Amino acid sequence: AKHQGKSSYAHFTPEMSEVSHERLQMESRLRRALELKEFELYFQPIVDTASGKLRAAEALLRWNNPVMGMVMPDRFIPLAEETGLIISIGEWVLEQACSAASGWKEQTGLDIGISVNVSPRQFRDPGFISAVARALSNNNLAPERLELEITERLLLDNSIETAQILKELDRKKVRLSVDDFGTGYSALSYLKSYPFDSLKIDRTFINDVLKEPEDASLVRAIINMAHSLELTVVAEGVESEPQTRFLKKEGCDYSQGYFYSRPLPAEEFSEWLRTNHR
Ligand code: C2E
Ligand code: CA
Ligand code: CA
Ligand code: CA
Repeated sequence: AKHQGKSSYAHFTPEMSEVSHERLQMESRLRRALELKEFELYFQPIVDTASGKLRAAEALLRWNNPVMGMVMPDRFIPLAEETGLIISIGEWVLEQACSAASGWKEQTGLDIGISVNVSPRQFRDPGFISAVARALSNNNLAPERLELEITERLLLDNSIETAQILKELDRKKVRLSVDDFGTGYSALSYLKSYPFDSLKIDRTFINDVLKEPEDASLVRAIINMAHSLELTVVAEGVESEPQTRFLKKEGCDYSQGYFYSRPLPAEEFSEWLRTNHR
């Protein structure tokens, strides 16, 4: 704005300087958060829609800051992306997530998968693939147990680089899924050219699936399309019994949402495992 001449200075209000001050403060706190061990992973069950059996868990990041309290990812992931901090934070997430999954195997004997969110900057970092490999080998976890969730947004650029990274991850047998499916307005053709294993229907579609016939049609169409491309489908944001009945009827493979469980801290997730899946 500074380059646009005098008038833009006139629009610079005290509130704006407050905002940028806040941002700078948050950035400096975020820089120290890893070494101060302020991050924590929560885990949310992903269940087989037909049987209700646990299939995997999604790792969801929380930031416990002594001043700000618990900060949700929507508030700090964008900043972590802009500053590049997402790369070291993302490595920490991969390590912790793989470690948790290998702990569940010891606890239950079950092969419970772990899904990890990957942001664009992290995905394109030259060290990303080796960070994934390291997290797997450090924790003795089979690559098929790890699923990387990538948003449609990341695929918009259509670059050769993106295609190559996806191919390499697929070659390593890591599972790949499209997150927030249906919100990204990208051409559907990427689904056949990239090696995805599953897609997650965005919760905005699931939300009104019983109230809006259009949403029901869309969800039905997405499930059928995914299956004809041999992709598994996960419904996100499932909050009620009637929604699960609809999803069962339509053959949606997996479901995730408050109806089954909120995201839980590691200890509580283990407890959930003990009571729900002995
Ligand atoms: P997402 O990947 O779409 O994750 C699902 C979000 O929906 C989570 O929000 C989860 O708590 C919430 N959710 C789950 N079930 C329900 C439900 O039944 N109803 C409703 N209304 N919401 C539900 P959360 O944990 O706040 O995460 C927000 C976003 O932050 C995630 O969206 C993801 O894009 C990003 N994120 C979270 N953890 C990480 C991470 O480790 N790395 C990166 N790069 N991004 C992350
Ligand atoms: Ca996700
Ligand atoms: Ca694959
Ligand atoms: Ca999602």
